[in-house]
Amino acid sequence: MSGSSYTANCPRCGGKETIEAYSDWRPFDSVSGICLRCGFTYWTQLGITSEDELEEQRAEYDNIKFDELTSEEKQNCKEFDKDYNIKEA
Ligand SMILES: [Zn+2]
Repeated sequence: MSGSSYTANCPRCGGKETIEAYSDWRPFDSVSGICLRCGFTYWTQLGITSEDELEEQRAEYDNIKFDELTSEEKQNCKEFDKDYNIKEA
């Protein structure tokens, strides 16, 4: 694994170093943690943006355009979604 484990102070209960956290930068930035004192927990959420939302986001970036995904790229997307248990919106 390329990630690292660490402890952190809890912003909810004020516990000192009561959060056990893990972060990784591969294959994308992610973080998760749990406070062993009060139960506060957080994690990086994965998903696929809906087509409508995607169009809105592209519009905010000067209507950026991309080439259509090739069939190989589409297959890579499917495998990625399966590996990370991502459901389409
Ligand atoms: Zn806490």
